[in-house]
Amino acid sequence: MIVVGLTGGIGSGKSTVAKMFSTLGIPVYIADVEAKKLMNTDEILKKQIIDLFGSNAYIDGQLNRNYIAGIVFNNAEQLDKLNAIVHPAVARHFMAWKEKQKSKYVIKEAAILFENEGYKQCDFTILVTAPKEIRILRVLDRDKTTREEVISRMNNQWEDDQKIPLADYIVPNIDIEKTENQVSSIHRELSSKDPCNPNPSFC
Ligand code: ATP
Repeated sequence: MIVVGLTGGIGSGKSTVAKMFSTLGIPVYIADVEAKKLMNTDEILKKQIIDLFGSNAYIDGQLNRNYIAGIVFNNAEQLDKLNAIVHPAVARHFMAWKEKQKSKYVIKEAAILFENEGYKQCDFTILVTAPKEIRILRVLDRDKTTREEVISRMNNQWEDDQKIPLADYIVPNIDIEKTENQVSSIHRELSSKDPCNPNPSFC
């Protein structure tokens, strides 16, 4: 099974691109959504979170998001500790999910892929890009948030310039029709890969 990591900065359009692959019949695993679910369902992970943040981390078995956010917001060390236990749980869950899929390749959408070296577990990577100002306006249009909050979240992510050299495919997502055409062409290319030796140039 070929694993294709899909990422992009806030508001770049990675979820939009993920939906395009899904429409083409490709299974899509959305790491951030699954991570949120696992924090409420994976008993080992729940115990690790309680060991880290104390019993206030859960209310009636459900993650106390406000409490956790209050701890990790602006505290990079605590955020790193949380990520260090959540990421392995997501990786385990993804491996099990992947085994059940029947397609030639699967897409793993993750907001953070290059920053945490998750891309090394992928056979190929796709980076969705758009100019920062467009991304800010998109998020302001989509979410109840402020320009300052969007910029602050943006500042926690790598710049596109750092990610571009590491990506196999770059999708500049401005004109949606052009994006759709490029997704179709990437899909054709990935569908023609040999799953036993997907990336011969790496050998
Ligand atoms: P986040 O990291 O915040 O989850 P994202 O990278 O997944 O964002 P999307 O949610 O796919 O981004 O897109 C952000 C917003 O921009 C959405 O409302 C989406 O409908 C819109 N959008 C995406 N691509 C385009 C485009 N090419 N033209 C216009 N609007 C777009």
